[in-house]
Amino acid sequence: MTRRHITHWISGQTWTGTAERHGDVYDPSTGQVTGRVDFASVADVDHAVVTATTAFKQWRSVSLAKRTQILFAFRELLNAKRDELAAIIVSEHGKVHSDALGEIARGIEVVEYACGIPHLLRGGFTEQASTGVDVYSIRQPLGPVAVISPFNFPAMVPMWFFPIAIAAGNTVVLKPSEKAPSAANFLADLWKQAGLPDGVFSVVHGDKVAVDRLLEHPGIKSVSFVGSTPIARYVYETGTRHGKRVQALGGAKNHMLVLPDADLDLAADAAVNAGFGAAGERCMAISVLVAVDPVGDELVEKIEQRIATLKVGPGCNGDSEMGPLVTGAHRDKVTSYLDAGAAEGANLVVDGRKHPISGEGTDEGFWLGPTLFDQVEPGMSIYGDEIFGPVLSVVRVSSYDEGLDLINANPYGNGTAIFTNDGGAARRFQNEVEVGMVGINVPIPVPVSYYSFGGWKASLFGDSHAYGEEGVKFFTRGKAVTQRWLDPSHGGLNLGFPTND
Ligand code: NAD
Repeated sequence: MTRRHITHWISGQTWTGTAERHGDVYDPSTGQVTGRVDFASVADVDHAVVTATTAFKQWRSVSLAKRTQILFAFRELLNAKRDELAAIIVSEHGKVHSDALGEIARGIEVVEYACGIPHLLRGGFTEQASTGVDVYSIRQPLGPVAVISPFNFPAMVPMWFFPIAIAAGNTVVLKPSEKAPSAANFLADLWKQAGLPDGVFSVVHGDKVAVDRLLEHPGIKSVSFVGSTPIARYVYETGTRHGKRVQALGGAKNHMLVLPDADLDLAADAAVNAGFGAAGERCMAISVLVAVDPVGDELVEKIEQRIATLKVGPGCNGDSEMGPLVTGAHRDKVTSYLDAGAAEGANLVVDGRKHPISGEGTDEGFWLGPTLFDQVEPGMSIYGDEIFGPVLSVVRVSSYDEGLDLINANPYGNGTAIFTNDGGAARRFQNEVEVGMVGINVPIPVPVSYYSFGGWKASLFGDSHAYGEEGVKFFTRGKAVTQRWLDPSHGGLNLGFPTND
């Protein structure tokens, strides 16, 4: 089979650079290597930053009307080509096609939000703050900014950041995951077709070498990172030490609290969709279901029944509901938790290793079916670790308060959900729970584009969430102007009044 060569995108075209190191790219459903991605050297990153710096000088002066036209054109192209982009995501990540379309749709929402940039950048104006003196505020772009993204949303996560960054007048260097690199180049090509000037959006592929250079490079003014917690912490500490503005979104362990009055069919459907969708490789996946007595037995039974009907197979097959894991190494790591959980005393209700895989040529693929543990307790590795796979743990608690304490004691604080028909309990939960995003009878509460996405505690380093108003603020700097003009109709005098009254 011919392997694709995936390389950088700089100055509006593919750019091979020094290309001394490479990584393999797999089709997770077959386990075959389908591509080779170049890893950027320090010199390659420097070239991208120089290009972005040059482009910034022009781009920051392009009118908002023109920028908006390009954004609308980019949105139209994304809509027209979304099936093609989804197929690329499926081929490298493994998620099912409908799920890939879903991530593109969420990315398009942010582009649509960024189309409103003339409104979003509007400043304030105060006339006559002092006599003859006006004060107003403006927001200006930062310069070249870096976006470093994870494998699990190759299109959506970069689009949480770059539409707003570009709309606000910045230039962007994107370093996507080396495991699913091709979507970034596809997006770069769409930008070019939309009329974005060369150099405003660049892609450098690679690993720690590229990331470290972006973090240190004096030409990079901010870093937007999404990935695992240890790397997010590292990126935040290193980037800020080099004087950059950094938002670093980390890992998660999302809990879903089910109260006794909840609709248990709805809760079971939600747990299966949110636990096993994208094979659990979502930062908003539900990985712990907290069942308040006495609903545990019934809920576990309902989830078990639903898992039995889940169709696991290649993401490109229209009827697949769950695909493989991203790499063989990750599948093996996730699978090791099945033995660990059983050894630690949890009840392995459904063993994902036994789930049928449908589809041709899948023998070598990175498969693990949906897995359900019951009687899980804090202190077990399956409870404490972010597994990032199709493994759902059920913890039993005796009351709402015990469930809340459990969630709040967890070091992560990304998303959470409560399932109940009691409005008072739901209202109390959204007030008391210590996480960044809360769903009430909604299992994956990813905020719409005009709110902002971000967790608390070990799920976010920095104080800016992604997109929405916080995104606009992150990608701009405020400036306050105090002005006074001499008035020629009064002989060049400023009306003769004191200015400090
Ligand atoms: P990862 O941390 O391994 O990689 C993320 C990025 O960091 C990649 O571009 C990678 O090349 C780079 N990187 C990896 N190791 C590095 C190192 N030592 N030094 C510098 N850079 C390095 O994450 P992943 O496996 O690609 O993605 C899964 C993780 O991302 C999960 O923990 C998941 O929860 C998290 N995630 C979080 C969110 C969120 O919004 N909080 C969203 C999506 C994914």
